[in-house]
Amino acid sequence: MTKETITRQTVKELDQQDSLQSFKSEFYTRDSHYYMDGNSLGLLSKRAEQTVLRSLQDWKEQAIDGWTEGREPWFYMSEKIGEMTAPLVGAKPHEVINTGSITTNLHQLIATFYQPEEKRTKILADALNFPSDIYALQSQIEQKGLRHEEQLIQVESKDGYTLDENDIIEQMDEQVAVLLLPSILYRSGQLLDMKRITEEAHKRGIIVGFDLAHSIGAIPHELHDWNVDFAVWCTYKYLNSGPGGVGGLYVHERHLGQKPGLAGWFSSKKEKQFDMEHTLTPAETASAYQIGTPHILSSAPLLGSLELFHEAGMDSIRQKSLKLTRLLMNLIHQELSDFGFQIVNPLEDERRGGHVSLVHPDAASICKALKSERVTPDYRSPNVIRLAPIALYTSFEDVYDTVMILKEIMSSGKHKDFKNERGIIA
Ligand SMILES: *Cc1c(COP(=O)(O)O)cnc(C)c1O
Repeated sequence: MTKETITRQTVKELDQQDSLQSFKSEFYTRDSHYYMDGNSLGLLSKRAEQTVLRSLQDWKEQAIDGWTEGREPWFYMSEKIGEMTAPLVGAKPHEVINTGSITTNLHQLIATFYQPEEKRTKILADALNFPSDIYALQSQIEQKGLRHEEQLIQVESKDGYTLDENDIIEQMDEQVAVLLLPSILYRSGQLLDMKRITEEAHKRGIIVGFDLAHSIGAIPHELHDWNVDFAVWCTYKYLNSGPGGVGGLYVHERHLGQKPGLAGWFSSKKEKQFDMEHTLTPAETASAYQIGTPHILSSAPLLGSLELFHEAGMDSIRQKSLKLTRLLMNLIHQELSDFGFQIVNPLEDERRGGHVSLVHPDAASICKALKSERVTPDYRSPNVIRLAPIALYTSFEDVYDTVMILKEIMSSGKHKDFKNERGIIA
């Protein structure tokens, strides 16, 4: 395989041809810093800042009237953001609501859709998912008076980083009530075939849910057409809603109009909510899966942030993201082959999410050295370095500089000045 050497000139040309180049100036980026952690906490955009300030101003000027008279009335904000999010997940507007966090939304939807009966009592998940998802599944099983050691099946990985769809399908049987999987695995960045998994599960009468933490805002989805039953996501990663930004959920319209597993007054049909009756009339939309008063100031950034996604378009974002991660992998091969890194994300475009996942025994100290050199990577215990170049605000030249800084650290052994253990947050 002969490949042309990638030079600074090559990446400068890629930047010149990049139709999304102008979006970078919409964000607060620090000069000479390389932020490769947008898959953990996305950067603040000027639009998001504006929409938060607008909600603050409504509070300042209108107090309680902000609920209905604000420039973006708070009473309808979760629905409005739901509608704005729907195209990103391939849903109809009434199938999506902005609410909760991944973990609370998972509790809500498992409480709703997991109805163990007779032989069908199990939940099928995987051994590589994020711990919070697994804790939620375990506690939901116990809420039903069952033992999670018996009812939760976790599909194993052969290599410790990726899953084989065939292994998942093999475990689908008449004892499984609900399936929950990540769309993209948080460590390795593997993208699962959601369409195929959903089809196979439905053939066997299994309800299908996905956690889109690492795919929303990174790849396009067709949840409605794929017939996915439900999905949950956060918005502080690729959607740039800020720390603790309000998450979202999707429920296919064939399930709408029922009572949620966990009810509250915000589950109400809007016109009925203030009747204050003790019998809930649930909304006929995904709004029914809300529980209490929405967290307006943590939702408001999305009004601005999502505009950027609509303007850029999810297909262009995905195309650029694939080019960025391809470039990053090619540069790693070209520049870092002597230093013992292993790329553990799938290499094919159809199976790769938005980040590159590198394994190295000194991962923790390398990440600290990168930070001291103004590169923000992401470390996942025990030995994974995740690097996420973000289509809206990372340039091709940023990727080049990042690899060159990493090369300099590895050649000089600078990382050996740092302890190879993780900090509190990693
Ligand atoms: C980020 C992430 C979470 C975090 O859950 P929150 O409830 O939003 O704190 C959960 N699951 C996965 C797969 C994640 O990537």
